Amino acid sequence: MLPNGSGKRLEYKLNLWSEWAKQHYGSKVFKVGVSLNSACPNRAEGGCIFCLQDTFTPEYKHQSTTEQLNTSIDRIKRGVRRDLKFIAYFQDETMGAIPTEKLESAFKEAIQHPEIVGLIVSTRPDYCSDEFLDVVSRYNAFLELGMQTIHNESLTLLNRNHSHNDTVDALKRIENKGIMAGVHLIVGIPNESINDILETIRYVNSKPVITDVKLHNLVAFKGTKLAISNYTLPNINEYIQILIKIIPYLAENKTISRLFTSNLSQSQIALNIQGEKKLWLNQLLQEIYTKNILQGLQSSIVNISRPNL
Ligand code: SF4
Repeated sequence: MLPNGSGKRLEYKLNLWSEWAKQHYGSKVFKVGVSLNSACPNRAEGGCIFCLQDTFTPEYKHQSTTEQLNTSIDRIKRGVRRDLKFIAYFQDETMGAIPTEKLESAFKEAIQHPEIVGLIVSTRPDYCSDEFLDVVSRYNAFLELGMQTIHNESLTLLNRNHSHNDTVDALKRIENKGIMAGVHLIVGIPNESINDILETIRYVNSKPVITDVKLHNLVAFKGTKLAISNYTLPNINEYIQILIKIIPYLAENKTISRLFTSNLSQSQIALNIQGEKKLWLNQLLQEIYTKNILQGLQSSIVNISRPNL
């Protein structure tokens, strides 16, 4: 049932991962980033035009997996009385490019940590070898794939240096290994129309192996190639209007674990983004209720339950 009046909440309108996790684990769940101090292979090819390494690589990257988890979990738990649960999030750079023995050893360390209830690992579609997937499968980790879009022209514009075929191939092999996946999508890529974005959403809807979606607004960080380009990027208002148009087309069985690029200090941002994530979420919420938006309303995909992590 949808609420009316005050106390409106996004989860009544969207299938949010945070709500799914709360029900699944019985308490609020935090993803705790772990770095394996590696470099993404795409940096040797010039890197993605939007990528700013500082936003990925934490200051504690030289610590062991256990030390990193302890530091972050202690910080999150400080002053919080409620029961919290934690997932080790191997997101830094491209985890599929790391030697599998190193990755497996870090997974083993993380899963033995008494506070950790699961693992998430992220990689690029072209760094998804069978050996890597075997480790992911062995540790029952959830896999995030940097898919971004199905349009090859856009992947070229972003200097991703992989094609949509790489995504298709990776998802097929991920599914064959029985691994569940989430995808990162960039919304607001220059030259992409709403129809182009909806084609990507329809592709995501058609893949049962994809259970989760992270939506990112394209942010021009200072120091990136994007910041000095001539591309016109959506500002936050325009981005929210795009979300309003595409959310009804995203199948209701896909959880959404991100709606905006992570909260960033204003000193890192150039050009198109101002304000705070909390304010952006409020603005989105207002629009969602004013325009009576509901995830999946325009999608023909029927609901299926989400498998366990
Ligand atoms: S693949 Fe990821 S880490 Fe590598 S350059 Fe692109 S955005 Fe940065």
